[in-house]
Amino acid sequence: MTATVVKPLNFHPPADGEPWARLRREVTGDVLTDAASRGRYATDASIYQVEPLAVLVPASDDDVRIAMTFCAERGIPMLPRGAGSSQCGQTVGAALVIDHSKHLDRVVAFDADARTVTVEPGIVLDRLNGWLRRHGLWFPVDVSTSAQCTLGGMAGNNSCGSRSLAYGNMVHNVLAIDARLADGTQARFGPENDRADAPPRIRDLLGKLRALGARERDEIARVVPKVMRRVGGYNADVFNPQSERPYTSDGSINYAQLLVGSEGTLAWTRTLTLALAPLPAHRTLGVVNFRSLREAMDCAQHLVALAPSAVELVDRTMIELARANPAFRPVIEQALIDAPDAILLVEFTGEDAVSAQRQLGRLDALLGDLGLPGRLVKLADVAAQKALWEVRKAGLNIMMSLRGDGKPVSFIEDCAVPLAHLGEYVDRLTAIFTRHGTRGTWYAHASVGTLHVRPILDMRRDGAQKMRAIAEEAAELVRTYKGAFSGEHGDGLVRSEWVAWQFGPRLTKAFEEIKHLFDPAALMNPGKIVHATRMDDATLFRFPPTHRTLQVEPGLDWSSWNVQNDPMTGTLTAPGTGGDPAQGFAKAVEMCNNNGHCRKFDAGTMCPSYRVTRDEIHLTRGRANTLRLALAGAFGDDVASNEVRDALALCVSCKGCRRECPTGVDMARMKIEFEHQWQRTHGLPFGDRLIAWMPRWAPYATALAPLFNVRNRVPSLARWTERWTGIDARRSLPHWRGRTFLREHRGDVREDTTADVVLFVDTFTDRFEPENAHAAVAVLRAAGLRVSIAKPHDAGRSSRPLCCGRTFLAYGLIDEARREATRMLEALTPHVARGATVVGLEPSCLFTLRDEFLGMRLGGDAARVAEHALLIDAFIAREHAAGRLALALAPLPQRRALVHAHCHQKAFGAADDVLTALRLIPDLDVEAIESSCCGMAGAFGYHRDRYDVSMRMAELALLPAVRGAGDDTLIVADGTSCRHQIADATRTGNPREPMHAIRVLARALRNGGNA
Ligand SMILES: Cc1cc2nc3c(=O)[nH]c(=O)nc-3n(C[C@H](O)[C@H](O)[C@H](O)COP(=O)(O)OP(=O)(O)OC[C@H]3O[C@@H](n4cnc5c(N)ncnc54)[C@H](O)[C@@H]3O)c2cc1C
Ligand code: SF4
Ligand code: SF4
Repeated sequence: MTATVVKPLNFHPPADGEPWARLRREVTGDVLTDAASRGRYATDASIYQVEPLAVLVPASDDDVRIAMTFCAERGIPMLPRGAGSSQCGQTVGAALVIDHSKHLDRVVAFDADARTVTVEPGIVLDRLNGWLRRHGLWFPVDVSTSAQCTLGGMAGNNSCGSRSLAYGNMVHNVLAIDARLADGTQARFGPENDRADAPPRIRDLLGKLRALGARERDEIARVVPKVMRRVGGYNADVFNPQSERPYTSDGSINYAQLLVGSEGTLAWTRTLTLALAPLPAHRTLGVVNFRSLREAMDCAQHLVALAPSAVELVDRTMIELARANPAFRPVIEQALIDAPDAILLVEFTGEDAVSAQRQLGRLDALLGDLGLPGRLVKLADVAAQKALWEVRKAGLNIMMSLRGDGKPVSFIEDCAVPLAHLGEYVDRLTAIFTRHGTRGTWYAHASVGTLHVRPILDMRRDGAQKMRAIAEEAAELVRTYKGAFSGEHGDGLVRSEWVAWQFGPRLTKAFEEIKHLFDPAALMNPGKIVHATRMDDATLFRFPPTHRTLQVEPGLDWSSWNVQNDPMTGTLTAPGTGGDPAQGFAKAVEMCNNNGHCRKFDAGTMCPSYRVTRDEIHLTRGRANTLRLALAGAFGDDVASNEVRDALALCVSCKGCRRECPTGVDMARMKIEFEHQWQRTHGLPFGDRLIAWMPRWAPYATALAPLFNVRNRVPSLARWTERWTGIDARRSLPHWRGRTFLREHRGDVREDTTADVVLFVDTFTDRFEPENAHAAVAVLRAAGLRVSIAKPHDAGRSSRPLCCGRTFLAYGLIDEARREATRMLEALTPHVARGATVVGLEPSCLFTLRDEFLGMRLGGDAARVAEHALLIDAFIAREHAAGRLALALAPLPQRRALVHAHCHQKAFGAADDVLTALRLIPDLDVEAIESSCCGMAGAFGYHRDRYDVSMRMAELALLPAVRGAGDDTLIVADGTSCRHQIADATRTGNPREPMHAIRVLARALRNGGNA
């Protein structure tokens, strides 16, 4: 079977029909055969792209069994997959891809005394460790992708974490694997003495493996690198261990360890039994400052003698990146002495705080002995330690967000060399980069000689040639120092051809025998580890030579992505000069490097639709890949294709990805662009037009408020309107108010050209909850501020109020939105020019000024207004911090407030401002709800097609927290739709009426608020 490569110019039609229709009938899970689904599974975090034949998302292990038999009977290759976060192309191939991450994620058995757990392959590491925490245990292979990577994938790659010095790699921590071979044989692979119970096929297999191991004993000793971080090839050294850290305590053979690191080429992992470790009682961190990177590298070998749990490098580029970020600057600066060229983060763990501290004392003394006195910063505080680890991670993220076609490419990123040679290795590899006109940033695992470095290469132009040249020269260095070419990320497509180089012809032949013994028909993930393709086979690249980009006339301004970069300096060319036929839209989409960070479940906002569906299509990555393929012409000559529409259908435009995606993929903005392209050719259905144009017809609804509000009281009317608007009859609609704030205050709150604050009252506040605007005026005035209400320049009795254009943007009506934005800028620019602050109440409206306005080609005024526009909580927090806020507040009858921040507040780092503002109220205990999107998201949750998903999003964290709060707890939410979701969902049972934070503050005014 030859590889079917995705060629966007000539994308294959759906591979439906026999045999897949038959498989679909036989399994309970999903069999995906359409072009877009296969395209989404054609990539991982590598530079490669190969279209799978089909994708199975099994509902059970039995589905996998059926599928494997089905494939074996027909000679169809199979490719197991977890989160698809591999960096080397392990999970791309022309096969039936079997994605275990959605359903196969249970804990199967747990033994606290023996400290073991047995899990299905799809369980995510952070989730497992969250589950184990209550038992004081953890699985300590702490890879950076712990929030999304699956244990099955970790075993497949023999993954290693930052603390591998203390705990080893996966191979040191997997006790047994229940596996299924391609021919359907099931067996437990574990310690040698389990062999007696095995079926004949397995007994025969293990016997032959053992004979092979005995035969190759000397060769194994001769060629396998004697470093702990060696993950290339098969672990043939289970028969003659070469790792610095023993595989088993008594030197016996454990066959599960042969499956670890086999990258899905030998067998399917059904369950894994893992060794657990006690959670360290105390951690302490020492930061050693160095004058040069070389000095740091030469020192690493001495530091590991103190038995730390981690020694991690941060080089000067990363230090500078962190310093340039206002949020990280104080964190990194507290760890620095003067201006170091590199720092090493040295972590110790101990049973008690005293012993951990004692270790730091020993580190200090050692540095003195090494002639490096006064270079240590001690961080005993847990929060400070955590913050510094975050900075290290963020530094990498900033590096990865480089715009232009040159990208940091992972192919020699994890060579491992003995510590004694680390300094020399870094110097010589840096010289190689310079000779090839590129550079790399160094970071990570100094403790085990595995430094990460990614040279910047342009894989659409000369990247492939440079990659080979650099790889060959780096390989020579690795050979000189007797290191491992693959020390962490495995072989996949980028390094399997180097297996022969690393292990020599004899052991390579032995690896082929191992493969044949397990999988004689060569059906399991072919082309990885053995029988490899070349790393620089450009037909397998994500951007193959045939790649093209459609000509697109975008509605938004994407020119800042349409640039190229200088690999040596990182300097970008001028916006608009990158040569993108889609004027930067395609290059913005291509920023997704498939690292899979958006698959995380627990922390942050991103990505709510994935959290409830767990489908690749409803993931930021899935959306970016679909868009990328569409822009490459995979679904026809129009980017406005049904495939993209389907992928974006459940995107709630929460902007979580804008902040949390390491490369800044801003899918909310991309959705606006897509909707723009779509409505240009397809138009908008009536229901969508109704919502988009709501600010324009709102005055009529206000005038006829009692009539409009009838729908909420008459179920048959709600059902009738559902038919022609799409608005779900189960939803109540916001209540139209006859007396709006702007109408009421038209006369008495005049535009004041000396005002400190200009209050922007958006359509939602004005029409549905005018009391919020009244509360804002009361609080701001109580603070002694002069307040003016933002009014259009053409303000007269008949003119319509100002509007940010949010509803138009949601439906891609960019021209209408631009018209509204222009009116806003005309009204607000004079105020900001004289130093006033524009303050808003509704997060989605206010952040439109700070975000979308900047991408609508509105000129310099947009930037000036954006700079001076703040949500009211942020304004109060800022003025309080500056000592300019004189607000007399009294305790409230309620002593607790639970706060749900709007997604856009979270996306702009403004969620804490609500807490800060509310904490000004004496005796009020203010707590944030750790929630993602509320699920309502503007009009998203009102639609009948999205109601269920909307409610599931709310049920993830928000609604359980609200229901768990006592009646004496205030529920606070600044977003109109968030408040509505909470009120709507709690209508039956114990109804809750959440409030905007400004109303809570107004209630606490000593002189009595009007809220
Ligand atoms: C930004 C970034 C940081 C990273 N940091 C680290 C790090 O610190 N340490 C590290 O070791 N790696 C790291 N990686 C690489 C990768 O995240 C890890 O190897 C991870 O453990 C892979 O897990 P996964 O679920 O994504 O597996 P996948 O990528 O889906 O699969 C990995 C391999 O396992 C095989 N496999 C999956 N499921 C099964 C199964 N049921 N049976 C048999 N074989 C199976 C696959 O075929 C594939 O060969 C990083 C990657 C990125 C993008
Ligand atoms: S969208 Fe962002 S977080 Fe998700 S895979 Fe792409 S780059 Fe990573
Ligand atoms: S905007 Fe929100 S829902 Fe849409 S892709 Fe980004 S994180 Fe997911």
